[in-house]
Amino acid sequence: MTQTNSSLPTDFIREIIDEHLRTNRYRGRVATRFPPEPNGYLHIGHAKSVCLNFGIAAQYGGACNLRMDDTDPSGESLEYVESIINDVRWLGFDWEDRLFYASDYFEQLYQFAVQLIKNGNAYVCSLSADEIREYRGTLTEPGKESPYRNRSIEENLDLFEQMRAGEFEDGAYVLRAKIDMVSQNITMRDPVLYRIKRTHHYRTGNQWCIYPMYDFAHCLSDSIERITHSICTLEFENNRPLYDWILDQLKLDSHPQQIEFARLNLSYTVLSKRRLIELVGKGSVTGWDDPRMPTIAGMGRRGYTPEAIRNFCTKIGVAKNDSIIDMALLEHYVREDLNERAPRVLGVLRPLRLVIDNYPEGQAEEFDSPYHPQNPELGSRKVPFSRTLYFEQEDFMENPPKKFFRLAPGREVRLRYGYLIKCVSVVKDPNTGEVVEVHCTYDPETRSGFAPDGRKVDATIHWVSADHSVPAEVRLYDRLFKVANPMGEESDFTKYLNPKSLETLVTCRVEPSLATAKPGDRFQFERLGYFCVDLKDSTPQKPVFNRVLTLRDSWAKISGQEKK
Ligand code: ATP
Ligand code: MG
Repeated sequence: MTQTNSSLPTDFIREIIDEHLRTNRYRGRVATRFPPEPNGYLHIGHAKSVCLNFGIAAQYGGACNLRMDDTDPSGESLEYVESIINDVRWLGFDWEDRLFYASDYFEQLYQFAVQLIKNGNAYVCSLSADEIREYRGTLTEPGKESPYRNRSIEENLDLFEQMRAGEFEDGAYVLRAKIDMVSQNITMRDPVLYRIKRTHHYRTGNQWCIYPMYDFAHCLSDSIERITHSICTLEFENNRPLYDWILDQLKLDSHPQQIEFARLNLSYTVLSKRRLIELVGKGSVTGWDDPRMPTIAGMGRRGYTPEAIRNFCTKIGVAKNDSIIDMALLEHYVREDLNERAPRVLGVLRPLRLVIDNYPEGQAEEFDSPYHPQNPELGSRKVPFSRTLYFEQEDFMENPPKKFFRLAPGREVRLRYGYLIKCVSVVKDPNTGEVVEVHCTYDPETRSGFAPDGRKVDATIHWVSADHSVPAEVRLYDRLFKVANPMGEESDFTKYLNPKSLETLVTCRVEPSLATAKPGDRFQFERLGYFCVDLKDSTPQKPVFNRVLTLRDSWAKISGQEKK
């Protein structure tokens, strides 16, 4: 992707639009649409399409419609419609009063089909699905004409009406476009436009027993809504001649330009509704909004921000050839955003008791601690300190190797926001020999974190006061798949699921200010990573935090941008 001087994105799609504006093809209008089928939740690939369509409309002073592409009733539902509406809104886009349903066009689409029959451009075919496939030919062999191709217009009109009236079994007839059985483009070999399918539709109920195919419904829906640029993914490239053919035969004055771009693929996950449905159905995840899912709902629950997702989608740009984007890049944008805005707090994931022997029993004090080192607007809070603390098990070693700089017997470290402490003894479980309590002394002269005599320590550790802290559950997430390309050779992608994608810690302690955190609030737990209060399971009595990401930016490392 290249940047213009005005720093607005430019790419081959915008170049096409610029050309249309120059030649006045759409009288200066730019109208796009995002057309999801409500047969699953939106994923990050859809987010790319959302950002592209709404972004282009905004950039050119046009409008973007949200359209439910609900012409195939199997698998579609109101739950999915609602999730799509929520997710597009959460991403930060507004379709105003332009929420449309392709199913609202069923009568109009039917009339368009009748018109095609009347023009001699469509016929009712009695071949079975298998026969149609057989007659279609292959990439190297031409197709064969259907024996029903030359039915009279009257007969076709009559049969089509009976199809609609429910007089035939499912599959007994289809309506096909009469184009060219020897076309180089297989899509143009008399494609099916309508089929009989007795399936309840979540909006139109049992009103229809024939449903239009995508290729027929999509171009016409675009035309009805007077879309100018119909942006879709590359797999529809071969369908573009059919898109144009239908609109041309019907002589519609609104003829949008279809433009294809490469779909987003992300490493360590799968982006296909069919596969995601399988994960949900098999119970491999807890639902569509499981924080490990690449869905908008899952990423939102995990703690990703809409800003980070939008930023990612803009920065990766659009291309004409398929590629796999590194998940680390998306994570990089999430960290970049959270680094700016997440308040810093203290939490301990695997607590170990720490007693400060020379700190008076029953005494407590508070450290006034800023929420963000560079952003004073986030304010500060008081962090209570007392004789008994919890700190991280992994910050202590009884017999430390050379490279271990944190707490160990005889060693002095800094407590974040507070004193220098020195380890004087440990208490062990008599049965296991495990260290269960660490005893320290503190230096009252070091409240600022520094010693007046200038002596240095090698580590600063995080902690919470035992009596003041709040118990919490923390869910540590890792990537859903253990290989970069789970769709690789093997057909069963589920065997690459990462068995360690979720670790639940139930004995965590967090600083008391977090008792009032609300679901969806995001924080940086110092030294540990970014965490988000779970939207579903967190309660004031027992807060639940999802780890959004660790602090380590593997993308910065890969791309050599690591600031150190
Ligand atoms: P899936 O392949 O995941 O089942 P789909 O293409 O069937 O998705 P739709 O609901 O038809 O899902 O998609 C709505 C819009 O989002 C379409 O315009 C489609 O091209 C676009 N889209 C879907 N997946 C991606 C992706 N991975 N990257 C970019 N755009 C996508
Ligand atoms: Mg689709």
